[in-house]
Amino acid sequence: MKTGGQVPEKIQGLILRIQRMSTEDGPGIRSTVFFKGCPLRCVWCHNPESIPARPQVHWVSARCIGCLSCIEACPEKALKATNSGIEIDRRVCTDCLKCAEACPSTAMEVYGRYWDPEDLVDELMKDRAYFEQSGGGVTLSGGEPTRQPDFAREVLESLKEKGVHTALDTCGQCPWERLEKLLPSTDLLLYDLKLMDEELHRDYTGLCGSQIQRNLARIGDYRRERLKPLEIWVRTPVIPGHTDSEENIRAIGAFIRDTMGGSVSRWELCAFNNLCTHKYDGLGIDWKCRDYGLVADSDMDRLVRVAAESVGRGGFVHASGATAVKGSRGHSVSLDRAGAQDGTSSNGSAADCSRERGRPRGGR
Ligand code: SF4
Ligand code: SF4
Repeated sequence: MKTGGQVPEKIQGLILRIQRMSTEDGPGIRSTVFFKGCPLRCVWCHNPESIPARPQVHWVSARCIGCLSCIEACPEKALKATNSGIEIDRRVCTDCLKCAEACPSTAMEVYGRYWDPEDLVDELMKDRAYFEQSGGGVTLSGGEPTRQPDFAREVLESLKEKGVHTALDTCGQCPWERLEKLLPSTDLLLYDLKLMDEELHRDYTGLCGSQIQRNLARIGDYRRERLKPLEIWVRTPVIPGHTDSEENIRAIGAFIRDTMGGSVSRWELCAFNNLCTHKYDGLGIDWKCRDYGLVADSDMDRLVRVAAESVGRGGFVHASGATAVKGSRGHSVSLDRAGAQDGTSSNGSAADCSRERGRPRGGR
């Protein structure tokens, strides 16, 4: 593993973090690898630190001892001490990471490290016992793993050689050739479908969704021909005022029904939360979703019913994430309406679908 900000010469991956013991990103207990770099700019993103495809510093108040070594080390004079702590002027910061190297207490923390594929696999294999006991494995997520296709392929192939179940969590915004490279060593594909209206998709994610839809349709054909990936799960973040219209849910359901030919085995509706607000604060970004409340319990139930009706198949629409009981200010419950059957629903275990980008999964 390299800690510097220089772009490496050989194939390495820029990884934001490894999240162990995850139960949200596929079957069993999983280790989820968050890649850094994403082509989308979803306004609701739960991992804003995963978007830039380069290492970045951020300041961690609880670790700071106030020595000011970081300010001395900064060649751009991008840092200043204020009453609320060390502020980073992102307009002049060049991401050189010298402040992090100078900080004696890791309070100037770096988002993103370069890894050799074999080092990353060795690290992941430390969790093998959990995978074997739980039927879990490794999920590549992000950010967007298809932004680093050669590195991702090496990691997936190596894991498959060692008998580990693999999942690829993608926004689908990439050339087809990248997916084609990764699908042979992917057991489970987690695919985000956020919005079917192209204008809205552009407004809320920065790009229209046509490539995403085209790629998913092609993955359906690919799977029918080669039985890879073994499974496809579609995931839709339920974001108040953005993706939560019945019209949008019906349009996604119609796409799954009419285009995917039965190759999708699960559709997850993932309720929004704003637990990542501190990340935006740390990056100095004014986040428009910071005051959005939780999705109302009754609204989530209604959307699950709409989804099940629109796709015309019972038993595969699931919902997850904390929701608010309407009329009970501040009180919330967690739901997993697993396997809603054509309009019926059941409550189950708590789940937070926020993708870190846990994120509503559409956090890219
Ligand atoms: S990363 Fe470099 S330019 Fe940015 S604040 Fe730190 S030392 Fe200054
Ligand atoms: S160098 Fe680290 S500990 Fe010292 S003031 Fe800067 S952030 Fe705080």
